[in-house]
Amino acid sequence: MRFDRYSQDSRQGPVISFEVFPPKTDAGLEKLHELLPELLELRPSFFTVTYGAMGSTQGRTLEIARTIRERHGIDAACHLTCVGSSRAELDGLLAAIHDAGVRDIVALRGDPPQGQTDFVPPADGLGHANELVAHIHNFTQRTGRERFGIAVAGYPEKHTEAPDLATDIRFLKQKTDAGADVVVTQLFFDNRNFFAWQRDARAAGISLPIIPGLLPIVKVKQIKRISEMCGCVIPAELEELLREAGDDDERAEEIGVRQCVAQARELLESGVPGIHFYVMNRSSHMRRIMQELRPLLRG
Ligand code: FAD
Repeated sequence: MRFDRYSQDSRQGPVISFEVFPPKTDAGLEKLHELLPELLELRPSFFTVTYGAMGSTQGRTLEIARTIRERHGIDAACHLTCVGSSRAELDGLLAAIHDAGVRDIVALRGDPPQGQTDFVPPADGLGHANELVAHIHNFTQRTGRERFGIAVAGYPEKHTEAPDLATDIRFLKQKTDAGADVVVTQLFFDNRNFFAWQRDARAAGISLPIIPGLLPIVKVKQIKRISEMCGCVIPAELEELLREAGDDDERAEEIGVRQCVAQARELLESGVPGIHFYVMNRSSHMRRIMQELRPLLRG
Protein backbone atom coordinates (compact mmCIF):
# COMPACT_ATOMS: atom_id res chain seq x y z
CA MET A 1 0.00 0.00 0.00
CA ARG A 2 2.14 2.91 1.31
CA PHE A 3 0.79 5.33 3.84
CA ASP A 4 0.33 7.77 0.95
CA ARG A 5 -3.07 6.09 0.59
CA TYR A 6 -4.34 8.78 2.95
CA SER A 7 -4.07 11.37 0.21
CA GLN A 8 -5.12 8.95 -2.56
CA ASP A 9 -7.87 6.80 -0.98
CA SER A 10 -9.38 9.62 1.04
CA ARG A 11 -10.75 10.93 -2.23
CA GLN A 12 -13.03 7.87 -2.13
CA GLY A 13 -13.81 8.34 1.55
CA PRO A 14 -11.97 8.23 4.88
CA VAL A 15 -9.33 5.52 5.37
CA ILE A 16 -10.20 3.17 8.21
CA SER A 17 -7.44 1.13 9.85
CA PHE A 18 -7.69 -1.54 12.54
CA GLU A 19 -4.88 -2.16 15.01
CA VAL A 20 -4.45 -5.66 16.45
CA PHE A 21 -1.85 -6.97 18.86
CA PRO A 22 0.07 -10.27 18.83
CA PRO A 23 -1.28 -12.52 21.59
CA LYS A 24 1.20 -14.04 24.05
CA THR A 25 -0.01 -17.64 23.74
CA ASP A 26 -0.55 -20.05 20.85
CA ALA A 27 -4.22 -20.34 21.85
CA GLY A 28 -4.53 -16.54 21.69
CA LEU A 29 -2.91 -16.53 18.27
CA GLU A 30 -5.36 -19.12 17.02
CA LYS A 31 -8.23 -16.98 18.32
CA LEU A 32 -6.86 -13.95 16.50
CA HIS A 33 -6.73 -15.92 13.26
CA GLU A 34 -10.40 -16.87 13.81
CA LEU A 35 -11.25 -13.23 14.49
CA LEU A 36 -9.57 -11.76 11.39
CA PRO A 37 -12.30 -12.81 8.90
CA GLU A 38 -14.90 -11.16 11.17
CA LEU A 39 -12.89 -7.93 11.22
CA LEU A 40 -12.35 -8.13 7.45
CA GLU A 41 -16.11 -8.21 6.90
CA LEU A 42 -16.15 -4.69 8.36
CA ARG A 43 -14.02 -3.54 5.38
CA PRO A 44 -11.12 -1.67 6.97
CA SER A 45 -8.61 -0.29 4.43
CA PHE A 46 -5.73 -2.02 6.21
CA PHE A 47 -4.50 -3.43 9.52
CA THR A 48 -1.56 -2.57 11.71
CA VAL A 49 0.07 -5.07 14.07
CA THR A 50 1.73 -3.84 17.27
CA TYR A 51 5.20 -4.77 18.45
CA GLY A 52 5.55 -6.22 21.97
CA ALA A 53 7.76 -4.54 24.54
CA MET A 54 10.26 -7.42 24.75
CA GLY A 55 10.33 -11.16 24.24
CA SER A 56 7.97 -13.68 22.81
CA THR A 57 5.42 -11.66 20.87
CA GLN A 58 7.92 -9.71 18.74
CA GLY A 59 8.33 -12.40 16.10
CA ARG A 60 4.59 -12.71 15.90
CA THR A 61 4.14 -9.14 14.65
CA LEU A 62 5.55 -9.99 11.26
CA GLU A 63 3.93 -13.44 11.21
CA ILE A 64 0.48 -11.88 11.73
CA ALA A 65 1.08 -9.06 9.23
CA ARG A 66 2.24 -11.61 6.64
CA THR A 67 -0.84 -13.78 7.22
CA ILE A 68 -3.14 -10.78 6.87
CA ARG A 69 -1.53 -9.92 3.52
CA GLU A 70 -1.14 -13.39 2.11
CA ARG A 71 -4.21 -15.20 3.41
CA HIS A 72 -6.67 -12.33 3.40
CA GLY A 73 -5.27 -10.15 0.63
CA ILE A 74 -5.39 -6.91 2.59
CA ASP A 75 -2.46 -4.69 3.54
CA ALA A 76 -0.89 -4.74 6.97
CA ALA A 77 1.70 -2.47 8.55
CA CYS A 78 4.18 -3.66 11.18
CA HIS A 79 4.83 -1.54 14.26
CA LEU A 80 8.51 -1.41 15.21
CA THR A 81 10.20 0.08 18.28
CA CYS A 82 13.74 0.99 19.32
CA VAL A 83 13.45 -1.24 22.41
CA GLY A 84 16.02 -4.02 22.74
CA SER A 85 17.57 -3.82 19.27
CA SER A 86 20.92 -2.49 18.10
CA ARG A 87 21.12 -0.75 14.73
CA ALA A 88 22.33 -4.00 13.15
CA GLU A 89 19.43 -5.93 14.70
CA LEU A 90 17.00 -3.31 13.44
CA ASP A 91 18.45 -3.84 9.96
CA GLY A 92 17.74 -7.57 10.29
CA LEU A 93 14.13 -6.87 11.32
CA LEU A 94 13.67 -4.36 8.49
CA ALA A 95 15.04 -6.84 5.95
CA ALA A 96 12.60 -9.51 7.20
CA ILE A 97 9.67 -7.09 7.06
CA HIS A 98 10.62 -6.00 3.54
CA ASP A 99 11.17 -9.59 2.37
CA ALA A 100 7.68 -10.46 3.63
CA GLY A 101 6.25 -7.84 1.26
CA VAL A 102 5.20 -5.46 4.05
CA ARG A 103 5.95 -1.89 3.00
CA ASP A 104 4.57 0.17 5.89
CA ILE A 105 5.94 0.64 9.37
CA VAL A 106 4.58 2.42 12.43
CA ALA A 107 7.89 3.68 13.84
CA LEU A 108 8.04 4.14 17.61
CA ARG A 109 10.55 4.54 20.37
CA GLY A 110 8.64 2.16 22.68
CA ASP A 111 8.24 2.33 26.43
CA PRO A 112 11.00 1.68 28.96
CA PRO A 113 11.10 -2.05 29.80
CA GLN A 114 9.06 -3.06 32.88
CA GLY A 115 10.63 -1.93 36.15
CA GLN A 116 12.49 0.97 34.50
CA THR A 117 11.27 4.55 34.54
CA ASP A 118 13.59 6.09 31.95
CA PHE A 119 14.11 4.92 28.42
CA VAL A 120 17.73 3.91 27.94
CA PRO A 121 18.74 3.28 24.33
CA PRO A 122 20.04 -0.26 23.77
CA ALA A 123 23.77 -0.68 23.09
CA ASP A 124 24.41 0.73 19.62
CA GLY A 125 20.68 1.34 19.36
CA LEU A 126 18.39 4.33 18.95
CA GLY A 127 17.00 6.73 21.56
CA HIS A 128 13.97 8.30 19.86
CA ALA A 129 11.45 7.62 17.14
CA ASN A 130 12.88 10.37 14.90
CA GLU A 131 16.14 8.39 14.81
CA LEU A 132 14.22 5.25 13.91
CA VAL A 133 12.46 7.03 11.04
CA ALA A 134 15.85 8.21 9.71
CA HIS A 135 17.31 4.73 10.22
CA ILE A 136 14.49 3.08 8.24
CA HIS A 137 15.02 5.40 5.28
CA ASN A 138 18.78 4.94 5.54
CA PHE A 139 18.28 1.16 5.48
CA THR A 140 16.26 1.16 2.26
CA GLN A 141 18.71 3.57 0.59
CA ARG A 142 21.77 1.53 1.67
CA THR A 143 20.25 -1.73 0.50
CA GLY A 144 18.69 -0.40 -2.69
CA ARG A 145 15.22 -1.47 -1.59
CA GLU A 146 11.89 0.17 -2.23
CA ARG A 147 11.10 2.81 0.37
CA PHE A 148 8.90 2.02 3.38
CA GLY A 149 5.85 4.14 4.19
CA ILE A 150 6.23 5.39 7.77
CA ALA A 151 3.70 6.43 10.41
CA VAL A 152 4.69 8.08 13.69
CA ALA A 153 2.80 8.58 16.95
CA GLY A 154 1.22 11.88 18.03
CA TYR A 155 -0.18 12.69 21.47
CA PRO A 156 -3.17 15.09 21.58
CA GLU A 157 -2.95 15.14 25.38
CA LYS A 158 0.87 15.12 25.46
CA HIS A 159 3.20 12.17 25.83
CA THR A 160 3.58 11.27 29.52
CA GLU A 161 7.29 12.15 29.60
CA ALA A 162 6.99 15.48 27.80
CA PRO A 163 7.15 18.60 30.02
CA ASP A 164 4.40 20.35 28.01
CA LEU A 165 2.40 20.11 24.80
CA ALA A 166 4.55 22.65 22.94
CA THR A 167 7.75 20.68 23.57
CA ASP A 168 6.05 17.45 22.54
CA ILE A 169 4.84 19.05 19.30
CA ARG A 170 8.36 20.33 18.62
CA PHE A 171 9.64 16.75 18.85
CA LEU A 172 6.75 15.52 16.70
CA LYS A 173 7.85 18.01 14.05
CA GLN A 174 11.35 16.51 14.22
CA LYS A 175 9.86 13.06 13.64
CA THR A 176 7.84 14.20 10.65
CA ASP A 177 10.85 16.08 9.23
CA ALA A 178 12.87 12.85 9.47
CA GLY A 179 10.62 11.45 6.74
CA ALA A 180 7.32 10.20 8.16
CA ASP A 181 4.28 10.03 5.89
CA VAL A 182 1.48 10.20 8.43
CA VAL A 183 0.83 10.84 12.14
CA VAL A 184 -1.44 8.43 14.04
CA THR A 185 -2.56 9.59 17.45
CA GLN A 186 -2.73 8.11 20.88
CA LEU A 187 -6.27 7.38 22.06
CA PHE A 188 -8.32 10.23 23.52
CA PHE A 189 -11.92 10.63 24.68
CA ASP A 190 -12.39 14.35 24.32
CA ASN A 191 -12.38 15.57 20.72
CA ARG A 192 -11.83 19.14 21.87
CA ASN A 193 -8.32 18.15 23.00
CA PHE A 194 -7.65 16.59 19.58
CA PHE A 195 -8.89 19.63 17.66
CA ALA A 196 -6.83 22.06 19.79
CA TRP A 197 -3.70 19.93 19.45
CA GLN A 198 -4.21 19.46 15.71
CA ARG A 199 -4.45 23.23 15.33
CA ASP A 200 -1.19 23.67 17.31
CA ALA A 201 0.53 20.97 15.27
CA ARG A 202 -0.48 22.68 12.03
CA ALA A 203 0.71 26.04 13.41
CA ALA A 204 4.06 24.37 14.20
CA GLY A 205 4.40 23.45 10.51
CA ILE A 206 3.28 19.80 10.66
CA SER A 207 1.46 19.34 7.38
CA LEU A 208 1.17 15.53 7.15
CA PRO A 209 -2.18 13.74 7.39
CA ILE A 210 -3.12 13.36 11.06
CA ILE A 211 -5.19 10.27 11.85
CA PRO A 212 -7.04 10.19 15.17
CA GLY A 213 -6.71 6.91 17.08
CA LEU A 214 -9.85 5.77 18.91
CA LEU A 215 -10.11 3.01 21.45
CA PRO A 216 -13.66 1.76 21.98
CA ILE A 217 -14.20 0.93 25.64
CA VAL A 218 -15.07 -2.70 26.34
CA LYS A 219 -14.23 -3.08 30.04
CA VAL A 220 -14.13 -0.44 32.76
CA LYS A 221 -11.04 -1.68 34.61
CA GLN A 222 -9.11 -2.11 31.40
CA ILE A 223 -9.86 1.40 30.17
CA LYS A 224 -8.88 2.95 33.50
CA ARG A 225 -5.55 1.13 33.40
CA ILE A 226 -4.86 2.06 29.77
CA SER A 227 -5.87 5.72 30.24
CA GLU A 228 -3.62 6.07 33.27
CA MET A 229 -0.75 4.46 31.42
CA CYS A 230 -0.97 6.82 28.47
CA GLY A 231 -2.05 9.91 30.39
CA CYS A 232 -5.38 10.19 28.58
CA VAL A 233 -8.20 12.18 30.17
CA ILE A 234 -11.61 10.54 30.76
CA PRO A 235 -14.17 13.39 30.71
CA ALA A 236 -16.30 13.64 33.89
CA GLU A 237 -19.54 12.62 32.15
CA LEU A 238 -17.97 9.48 30.70
CA GLU A 239 -16.29 8.72 34.03
CA GLU A 240 -19.68 8.83 35.75
CA LEU A 241 -21.21 6.43 33.21
CA LEU A 242 -18.30 4.05 33.67
CA ARG A 243 -18.62 4.25 37.45
CA GLU A 244 -22.27 3.24 37.15
CA ALA A 245 -21.37 0.35 34.82
CA GLY A 246 -18.81 -1.04 37.31
CA ASP A 247 -18.08 -4.69 36.47
CA ASP A 248 -20.99 -4.99 34.03
CA ASP A 249 -19.03 -5.60 30.80
CA GLU A 250 -22.11 -5.55 28.60
CA ARG A 251 -23.01 -2.09 29.83
CA ALA A 252 -19.41 -0.93 29.50
CA GLU A 253 -19.35 -2.07 25.86
CA GLU A 254 -22.63 -0.26 25.22
CA ILE A 255 -21.16 2.95 26.66
CA GLY A 256 -17.99 2.37 24.64
CA VAL A 257 -19.86 1.93 21.36
CA ARG A 258 -21.91 5.10 21.91
CA GLN A 259 -18.85 7.13 22.96
CA CYS A 260 -16.75 5.89 20.03
CA VAL A 261 -19.48 6.46 17.41
CA ALA A 262 -20.08 10.00 18.69
CA GLN A 263 -16.36 10.81 18.61
CA ALA A 264 -15.82 9.21 15.20
CA ARG A 265 -18.83 11.00 13.70
CA GLU A 266 -17.64 14.40 14.83
CA LEU A 267 -14.09 13.71 13.66
CA LEU A 268 -15.21 12.48 10.24
CA GLU A 269 -17.52 15.44 9.83
CA SER A 270 -14.57 17.71 10.63
CA GLY A 271 -12.77 16.20 7.61
CA VAL A 272 -10.08 13.93 9.12
CA PRO A 273 -8.62 11.71 6.35
CA GLY A 274 -9.13 8.52 8.35
CA ILE A 275 -9.62 6.88 11.73
CA HIS A 276 -7.36 4.32 13.35
CA PHE A 277 -9.27 1.98 15.66
CA TYR A 278 -7.55 0.17 18.50
CA VAL A 279 -9.80 -2.86 18.15
CA MET A 280 -8.24 -4.80 21.06
CA ASN A 281 -8.54 -8.11 19.19
CA ARG A 282 -12.35 -8.15 19.44
CA SER A 283 -15.03 -7.75 16.80
CA SER A 284 -18.54 -7.49 18.30
CA HIS A 285 -18.19 -3.84 19.32
CA MET A 286 -16.46 -2.95 16.04
CA ARG A 287 -19.33 -4.47 14.06
CA ARG A 288 -21.77 -2.11 15.76
CA ILE A 289 -19.46 0.90 15.43
CA MET A 290 -18.80 0.32 11.74
CA GLN A 291 -22.50 -0.22 11.05
CA GLU A 292 -23.30 3.15 12.58
CA LEU A 293 -20.49 4.91 10.74
CA ARG A 294 -21.06 3.27 7.34
CA PRO A 295 -23.16 6.15 5.93
CA LEU A 296 -20.20 8.48 6.57
CA LEU A 297 -17.63 6.17 5.00
CA ARG A 298 -18.66 5.77 1.33
CA GLY A 299 -17.09 2.95 -0.64
P1 FAD B 1 9.29 9.51 20.79
O1 FAD B 1 8.74 10.22 19.62
O2 FAD B 1 10.75 9.20 20.79
O3 FAD B 1 8.90 10.39 22.08
C1 FAD B 1 9.11 9.91 23.39
C2 FAD B 1 9.29 11.11 24.34
O4 FAD B 1 10.51 11.78 24.07
C3 FAD B 1 8.21 12.20 24.20
O5 FAD B 1 7.97 12.72 25.48
C4 FAD B 1 8.82 13.23 23.27
O6 FAD B 1 8.33 14.54 23.53
C5 FAD B 1 10.31 13.11 23.58
N1 FAD B 1 11.16 13.21 22.40
C6 FAD B 1 10.86 12.81 21.14
N2 FAD B 1 11.93 12.98 20.34
C7 FAD B 1 12.92 13.49 21.11
C8 FAD B 1 14.27 13.87 20.86
N3 FAD B 1 14.80 13.74 19.63
N4 FAD B 1 15.02 14.33 21.89
C9 FAD B 1 14.49 14.44 23.13
N5 FAD B 1 13.21 14.12 23.43
C10 FAD B 1 12.43 13.64 22.43
N6 FAD B 1 4.51 0.85 21.97
C11 FAD B 1 5.02 -0.40 21.76
O7 FAD B 1 5.84 -0.88 22.56
N7 FAD B 1 4.63 -1.14 20.67
C12 FAD B 1 3.75 -0.67 19.75
O8 FAD B 1 3.43 -1.36 18.79
C13 FAD B 1 3.20 0.64 19.94
N8 FAD B 1 2.34 1.17 19.05
C14 FAD B 1 1.86 2.46 19.22
C15 FAD B 1 1.04 3.02 18.24
C16 FAD B 1 0.56 4.32 18.38
C17 FAD B 1 -0.32 4.90 17.30
C18 FAD B 1 0.89 5.07 19.54
C19 FAD B 1 0.35 6.46 19.74
C20 FAD B 1 1.71 4.53 20.51
C21 FAD B 1 2.23 3.23 20.37
N9 FAD B 1 3.12 2.65 21.29
C22 FAD B 1 3.62 1.38 21.09
C23 FAD B 1 3.49 3.39 22.51
C24 FAD B 1 4.82 4.18 22.34
O9 FAD B 1 5.88 3.30 22.12
C25 FAD B 1 5.04 4.97 23.63
O10 FAD B 1 4.09 5.98 23.74
C26 FAD B 1 6.46 5.52 23.83
O11 FAD B 1 6.58 5.92 25.19
C27 FAD B 1 6.82 6.71 22.97
O12 FAD B 1 7.00 6.36 21.67
P2 FAD B 1 7.20 7.50 20.54
O13 FAD B 1 7.45 6.77 19.28
O14 FAD B 1 6.11 8.48 20.59
O15 FAD B 1 8.55 8.14 21.08
